Amino acid sequence: MVTRNPEPLLAVRNLSVEYVTDRGPVLAIDNVSLNVMPGEILGIAGESGSGKTTLAEAVLRILPPPAVITGGEIVLEGSDVLAMDDAELRELRWQRISMVFQSAMDALNPVITIGEQIADTLLAHGVGAEDARERAVELLEMVGIPPSRVSAYAHQLSGGMRQRVGIALALALQPSLVILDEPTTALDVIVESQILSRIRDLQRSLGFAVILITHDLARMLQVSDRVAIFYAARLAEVGPADEIRRAPRHPYTEGLLNAFPSVRPGGKEPASIPGLPPSLLRPPPGCRFHPRCPRAFDPCSKQTPGPTKIGPGHVVRCHLVG
Ligand code: SF4
Repeated sequence: MVTRNPEPLLAVRNLSVEYVTDRGPVLAIDNVSLNVMPGEILGIAGESGSGKTTLAEAVLRILPPPAVITGGEIVLEGSDVLAMDDAELRELRWQRISMVFQSAMDALNPVITIGEQIADTLLAHGVGAEDARERAVELLEMVGIPPSRVSAYAHQLSGGMRQRVGIALALALQPSLVILDEPTTALDVIVESQILSRIRDLQRSLGFAVILITHDLARMLQVSDRVAIFYAARLAEVGPADEIRRAPRHPYTEGLLNAFPSVRPGGKEPASIPGLPPSLLRPPPGCRFHPRCPRAFDPCSKQTPGPTKIGPGHVVRCHLVG
């Protein structure tokens, strides 16, 4: 019997995004291809400015000027996102894909209660008043906020609770994909861990897919099914989270993993990656990681490594595996 791979929920193909600046174009996403499968958590990691948030904004068509999509395709459940008109984009955002932004916990309206904010979102999308109120309570309970806090205002909640309200809002219209952009950056490690566990539980019970963007690779590996590593606007490695945790194949992925302390007694000391990410105005030729790579060899500064498949769903761009 032939088993067919399921169709991706989201397919990004050869996507390029440029920022037009006075000093010339900055290629913020350079020919990136990536799938998100139905019901999976795809973690996206990389240093600041590597293209993670730009990719998410491109998928939702909310890139701020002067960013422009210069090539490629974005297909969600068979619909061409780049060809959508305004009405289709309104349906895309929140109903099909929702996003929790980096500053979501500070974005709540301070003068209406959290229950009213969620009910308003539902009312704006055609849900009746009675149902909207009930659903708001359900959504808040789902993210661990008891019904007794439905009438609370944002300032009466802790940072972790406000972030949970942001997640409840993102789930309100039952999207098939939720993008979480650094959802726990401003929280302490215990609250961060609680929120990521809650996201994982909700994703398993409700079946939506998640793109989880963070610079914290160690934390991401605990909750993701697959991981994509960005470096200087390109994908360095994509693969199953457990494989990448056990045996990263790209020297940059290895460097990111080594930068976190081991929780095991006698584990390795953390080691930072030398140097800084390159300017995307004039990125280095060949492999963009070569000025910082401990394993760089002759072709690295001259030839750009292509994608090499090294196992099911595991792709690496490095001359060591090419
Ligand atoms: Fe290092 Fe060369 Fe691989 Fe780039 S291609 S990661 S420089 S070994």
